[in-house]
Amino acid sequence: MDLHSHSTVSDGTDAPEVVVQKAKAAGLRVLALTDHDTFDGLAAAGAAAEAEGIELVPGMEMSCELGGRSVHLLAYGVDRANAALDAELRKVRAGRDDRMPRMIARLGELGMPLTEAEVMVHVGEAPSIGRPHIADAMVDKGYVADRTEAFDRFLSEGGPAYVDRYHTQLEDGIALIRAAGGVAVIAHPWGRGSRAVLGPEELTRLVNDHGLDGFEVDHVDHGPEERAQLRELADSLQVLGTGSSDYHGDGKPGLLLGANTTTPEAYARLRELMDSRAG
Ligand code: AMP
Ligand code: MN
Ligand code: MN
Ligand code: MN
Repeated sequence: MDLHSHSTVSDGTDAPEVVVQKAKAAGLRVLALTDHDTFDGLAAAGAAAEAEGIELVPGMEMSCELGGRSVHLLAYGVDRANAALDAELRKVRAGRDDRMPRMIARLGELGMPLTEAEVMVHVGEAPSIGRPHIADAMVDKGYVADRTEAFDRFLSEGGPAYVDRYHTQLEDGIALIRAAGGVAVIAHPWGRGSRAVLGPEELTRLVNDHGLDGFEVDHVDHGPEERAQLRELADSLQVLGTGSSDYHGDGKPGLLLGANTTTPEAYARLRELMDSRAG
């Protein structure tokens, strides 16, 4: 059971139906497709899951912020027609659209000219434009070898080509997902420096005061010690502690579907919550 993956609808490199087919081939029984700030891949993924005989959890990974830092929030089983959530996701995607030309301008100043068309080749039909698409265009131009180098040298938060964009306040994101009948789980809470704003007290506050349903434990961005601490915290708070690959196709080489997984017990609890809220 792998509860976090991406397709070409955001910054993954496999089409939604291909992600599902690869999940089946990898031996998964359950897959959540959780593209950034959009539900657009879920119809195609759902049809493929039916054909392949695997269970698809409808998901989405929402761009939020806490204390000025980016925090990703996974939403499962929401009502996709919910007007408030839809309006907020449009705002987030508009922020993505606005940022792209500004980052291209920065790269130009750094001696790495790119056109919007060169980035759009990698965006394709995706409604959710991300920095990885810019990274892919940089690879085409020979400026960097891969996405990792593009992020490490230029695109990461605070890097020379980084430009900020609109993010939903984390507490508001949880409230929107819950109000849309969904389940809210923080993605990689201690990945890439997020621990600074998401320590144990903060995670406890978000559970007790804001209805957070859980957080990822087994994720490539967490080391063994962090996983052990997060597992203990999830158990003591009696919330979901999940595992996932955060699969991005070729976008994160070597990271295969099922690289980390969720236990049947945690998945059963997620199902119960989704069914009881009936988003
Ligand atoms: P954005 O959605 O535009 O804010 O870009 C963030 C996305 O970039 C994440 O969802 C990852 O897929 C990807 N990403 C972030 N950091 C790195 C990195 N160091 N190497 C490769 N991909 C990264
Ligand atoms: Mn991504
Ligand atoms: Mn993420
Ligand atoms: Mn992700």
